[in-house]
Amino acid sequence: TTMTGAEIRQTFLEFYAARGHAIKPSASLVPEDPTVLLTIAGMLPFKPIFLGQRPADVDRATTSQKCIRTNDIENVGRTARHHTFFEMLGNFSFGDYFKEQAIAWAWELSTKVFNLPAERLVVSVFREDDDAFAIWRDQIGIPAHRIQRMDEADNFWTSGPTGPCGPCSEIYYDFHPELGDDHIDLEDDSRFIEFYNLVFMQYNRDAEGNLTPLQNQNIDTGLGLERMAQILQQVPNNYETDLILPIIKTAAELAGLDYSKSDEKTKVSLKVIGDHVRAVVHMIADGITASNVGRGYILRRLIRRVVRHGRLIGIEGAFISKVAESAIQLAEEPFPNTRQRETVIKAELDREEARFLETLERGEKLLTDLLNRESQSETKQIAGTDAFVLYDTYGFPLELTQEIAEEQGLSVDVAGFETAMEEQRQRSKDAHETIDLTVQGSLDSLAEHIHSTEFLGYKDTTSASKVE
Ligand code: ATP
Ligand code: MG
Ligand code: MG
Ligand code: MG
Repeated sequence: TTMTGAEIRQTFLEFYAARGHAIKPSASLVPEDPTVLLTIAGMLPFKPIFLGQRPADVDRATTSQKCIRTNDIENVGRTARHHTFFEMLGNFSFGDYFKEQAIAWAWELSTKVFNLPAERLVVSVFREDDDAFAIWRDQIGIPAHRIQRMDEADNFWTSGPTGPCGPCSEIYYDFHPELGDDHIDLEDDSRFIEFYNLVFMQYNRDAEGNLTPLQNQNIDTGLGLERMAQILQQVPNNYETDLILPIIKTAAELAGLDYSKSDEKTKVSLKVIGDHVRAVVHMIADGITASNVGRGYILRRLIRRVVRHGRLIGIEGAFISKVAESAIQLAEEPFPNTRQRETVIKAELDREEARFLETLERGEKLLTDLLNRESQSETKQIAGTDAFVLYDTYGFPLELTQEIAEEQGLSVDVAGFETAMEEQRQRSKDAHETIDLTVQGSLDSLAEHIHSTEFLGYKDTTSASKVE
């Protein structure tokens, strides 16, 4: 079965609608939940229901949820399956059906509707979940050796350090069944891809790590739209599906390149551009603007990464809003707010791009000098103060400097960077105390500096990384 991305989305939603699920629209990328910066999974809008804080208006729901996972940013373009922005298709039960039914429907959908051959599917269960193991083996008929028991890290899903959670069971597609069943290693992503995760949401985890049973036994699932498209369209990665390839082609054209004839490094840059442009279009459509704090900083970081990769593949001058047009064309049907906010989106992208382009060249020159100097040194490390100058004067997000340094086998003194940031903050605080505090602009910039460190810390504890 070949299906377009749009057909896969529609088919999923209709399958569950026919089984009593209310089709709900995607929630915004800006979550109501204050514990995460961006919507990282389809369950997030339903979290208060799972926790019993808000009554459910329906027993069953199905959605295609816009998601952004910054913890996967380094995987973008490097693995075949990870994006920052992606759509998660989900079916949810609020204290209604549970494991048996969720597994049966997921299997029916995968094998009867998407027509994936049963012998190409492998499943995982949480190590201690004998119930799920038994359902897959005895009711679905999967041979025991194709049901892998996995640890908490992979098969106990949590949306963050605290909150609703539970054991999960994942379905994987086997690209190379000819390799046989002797060594099934689900971590081997040249052979297997995880596409559907069924979470048996039945606990709440508190700040001390204690699990208490929720009022209800719930179901929360996620199927990656782009991954299913990769499988059904029989292309080598998510990027070459109809959901993203047109964006990549637009970028390639602007660089005078042919994607399919490009070398690996160029392909990675094109994939980064394709991924990030999709992400920033949806972020701005959902009301985010670039800044130095929180979500705004993530947006800025993504845009700057696009600019840099554009230059790496030979694009000169402004180009993002042209690529954005192609992303809007793909998004406007399922997500009309992208076209409605087209002017805002393009203006924001143009402004951010121009701002970064102004200093990029000088920053790149400084960075190249630093890289040359430090690669001769013993430590092979960019000093924190230098990274801070790149950040503060030339607009290089720390992560961007780190990424470029790593490409050359160098590291960055992050602690030194933070110290430099702290000193700067102290200086501007002292300065602000002696000047007119009623000037809103200086208050805002003060607030930005105060919050920007919070964000940097957040990166390592982002709840999405807990998901791994
Ligand atoms: P992986 O192990 O491949 O990183 P995951 O276990 O982190 O995936 P889940 O948290 O279980 O993913 O999310 C449910 C589904 O959402 C996955 O099975 C996958 O189909 C999809 N998905 C998750 N992360 C991404 C991503 N970064 N890009 C595209 N699809 C994703
Ligand atoms: Mg996984
Ligand atoms: Mg998973
Ligand atoms: Mg992951």
